[in-house]
Amino acid sequence: MRFDSTKRVLVTGGAGFLGSHLCERLLADGHDVVCVDNFFTGTRHNVAHLLEHPGFEILRHDVTFPLYIEVDEIYNLACPASPIHYQHDPVQTTKTSVHGAINMLGLAKRVGAKILQASTSEVYGDPEQHPQTEGYWGRVNPIGIRSCYDEGKRCAETLFFDYYRQNALRIKVARIFNTFGPRMHPNDGRVVSNFIMQALTGEDLTINGDGTQTRSFCYVDDLIDGLVRLMDSPDDFTGPVNLGSTYEFTMLELAEKIIALTGSSSKIGFRELPSDDPRQRQPDLTLARQVLGWGPSTPLDEGLQRTVEYFKAL
Ligand code: NAD
Ligand code: UDP
Ligand code: UDP
Repeated sequence: MRFDSTKRVLVTGGAGFLGSHLCERLLADGHDVVCVDNFFTGTRHNVAHLLEHPGFEILRHDVTFPLYIEVDEIYNLACPASPIHYQHDPVQTTKTSVHGAINMLGLAKRVGAKILQASTSEVYGDPEQHPQTEGYWGRVNPIGIRSCYDEGKRCAETLFFDYYRQNALRIKVARIFNTFGPRMHPNDGRVVSNFIMQALTGEDLTINGDGTQTRSFCYVDDLIDGLVRLMDSPDDFTGPVNLGSTYEFTMLELAEKIIALTGSSSKIGFRELPSDDPRQRQPDLTLARQVLGWGPSTPLDEGLQRTVEYFKAL
């Protein structure tokens, strides 16, 4: 039982890329934050600047195991997000999404907390509908190398909606599209961090396939603002809601842009496209704009510049 009015917010995966920015934002908004992480892909370094904050607590814990604490809100971000990390131990990836969701939903149920799930555009798989609206059910391979992540996240969404229907839990589901910015893991194999690191070290930029596949990248600060707005939205709004950028471009264009931005002498090289790599991806943001009054505002070049500065300083 708590007697003061400060909200206590749990962020699972709080020492990761998105999680660390979210902890920072919640503390700045005046909340107490409990960061839970098993440090699989996240690091203490990502939240080192928050450790002295009186409202900040960090707990080493794996969400596949039960967790008994008292909180008012839960942001469930725990899950490796880059293909090389989530494919490293695919069974653990599914456990993290599925058992992790059950445990965090069980916790939310016990303490009456509001709970937000960091879902993903991967629930749409390699989409036939373009751009993707929340009503699209997706085209996902259930037995491929990306399935541990995609199907794990789909099952987590199912659990969120079953707890909502069965236990009247207050849930929020965000479908996050590709996001980038400072504190991305330099070796996580994602395209933005790879290209920047390669450009800064003068290596060839590794384009998978012919580079004509598209993505749209959202700067981290914009994405975090979308998550907070979603958590604060009226209880009858559950989502799922797409959060991301609609500015879509090819990986070849991205490589050329990063070479130009860094003034690098790196060249572009091509290698095999991994299986089930989506051809195209762009969110339809109508719902986010209507209900949350949200849309990304950081220009791509500005976000990339800030990310380049971060990687230079590493
Ligand atoms: P990240 O790998 O940097 O962060 C994930 C964090 O979860 C890490 O700190 C990791 O140590 C922790 N974690 C992993 N398994 C855990 C477990 N079993 N118990 C406790 N902690 C665990 O990735 P990110 O980019 O910050 O992604 C955060 C969330 O957002 C993930 O759920 C991801 O699926 C989702 N998401 C991210 C993107 C993106 O572009 N970054 C896109 C869509 C969805
Ligand atoms: N749980 C948890 N913390 C809590 C309450 C529950 O981690 O404060 C976990 C616990 O492992 C439980 C799961 O959440 O098995 C689902 O809880 P729920 O109450 O929905 O179902 P139960 O399995 O207890 O019947
Ligand atoms: N990609 C690439 N070179 C790299 C890393 C990734 O061309 O060094 C491609 C990848 O095959 C995909 C796109 O860039 O088509 C985005 O990859 P990322 O892993 O960042 O995100 P996701 O595939 O999960 O959207």
